[in-house]
Amino acid sequence: MKKTQKKLTRSEVLFSKAKKYFPGGVNSPVRAFQSVGGTPLFIDKGKGAFIWDDDGRKYVDFCCSWGPLILGHANPKVIKAIKETVDKGTSFGAPTALENKLAELIISNNSYIEKIRFVSSGTEAVMSAIRLARGFTKRNKILKFEGCYHGHSDSLLVKAGSGLVTFGNSSSEGVPDSFVAETIVCPLNNPDAVKEAFLTFKNQIACVIIEPVPANNGLLLQEKNYLEFLREITSENGSLLIFDEVISGFRIGFTGAAGYYKIKPDLITYGKIIGGGLPVGAYGGSQKIMDNISPLGKVYQAGTLSGNPVAMAAGIAQLTECLKPGFYKKLEEKTLAFAKMINDYSKKKHYDFKVFSLGSIFWFAFTDSSSIKSSAEINSGSMKTFAKFFHLLLSNGIYLGPSGYEVGFISEAHSTEILEKSQKIILACLDGVNETLGKSK
Ligand SMILES: *Cc1c(COP(=O)(O)O)cnc(C)c1O
Repeated sequence: MKKTQKKLTRSEVLFSKAKKYFPGGVNSPVRAFQSVGGTPLFIDKGKGAFIWDDDGRKYVDFCCSWGPLILGHANPKVIKAIKETVDKGTSFGAPTALENKLAELIISNNSYIEKIRFVSSGTEAVMSAIRLARGFTKRNKILKFEGCYHGHSDSLLVKAGSGLVTFGNSSSEGVPDSFVAETIVCPLNNPDAVKEAFLTFKNQIACVIIEPVPANNGLLLQEKNYLEFLREITSENGSLLIFDEVISGFRIGFTGAAGYYKIKPDLITYGKIIGGGLPVGAYGGSQKIMDNISPLGKVYQAGTLSGNPVAMAAGIAQLTECLKPGFYKKLEEKTLAFAKMINDYSKKKHYDFKVFSLGSIFWFAFTDSSSIKSSAEINSGSMKTFAKFFHLLLSNGIYLGPSGYEVGFISEAHSTEILEKSQKIILACLDGVNETLGKSK
């Protein structure tokens, strides 16, 4: 019998228990730390830019619950709104004034949508928008891009096969081939592939769906003229253009990527920030298209907890803060300064490392290229290096999303002082990782 008994951390104990209850010990796969190795931290609490794990260790959080927390953790205004609302009950299954209030806040400040429908997750928003596009156009096929994530509904769990324009392969078991056959997959940043798809499937494509700021597989920033091209080709062919703004909505600015690029898609999906940290998704567009949703129209979509009052209150409180003058400018300036400082250092040291950013989204990439626009350009071999970097950062009090394909977020609560302290740690960890790389050569 071995006698060496290292004392387990609380996270380790909790994770081994969790594995008895949940597949892989988690309720969403990336949380399991599989791509970086080790034990996920179990989080006890968060405040502002910080989280504390169950072992009482404090971290600067750059994951921010994968994007929703643009004000940071436990923002007093959001918490107050939640508490006041929850005292009056949690759900009624009947309309409330809060739904009107959040809709008004959004629509009166966003000329890209006229009508909206609230649901409970980003996945649900996208799934519903796709059904609406199919119902509206009376067509079945949809076109998506390799490297974009749109939640876990069947039609969207499809990845590219070989060839420029392909019916993909399902990226999950349990998705019928007949579903996959309705999804066309093209590489990003490649107009020819989309042109070919529209030629091959003339009058069959209901919609083109894209993350206008692809941020679920690295940060694959697209050219504005490419997005404009998608707008044109969909209009010419009677297809709808859907911007999946679950991550970019209220992040790149209040009007998201639509406003940033000044492109009006037919439908926009939202999630994450819109719910202030509670489960809310939404889809919206012109009245003409949206009125095809039941009960007015023949496209069915419903939800027991849709427009939940507590979640609406959180969303209202958060978006009210986002609308304050200079809110996005300040976030962007902080992020730019943060990225530039790290990039300058990396360049000086000749490291193959770059921070890509837009608005307050950033991506740490171990690469020597100055621009990455499609998933094929991501060096999957560099993910091992990311894993080392991740753990070095973690042991020095910096928490990132546990995968090199994930982006990071800067919130209002990430003060310049916190960011400058974090930068120093990040640079030291970058040195550390590059030293180990040098040694292993
Ligand atoms: C997060 C995300 C989704 C899925 O949202 P969930 O709330 O996790 O279901 C869909 N699309 C994009 C672009 C996302 O970032």
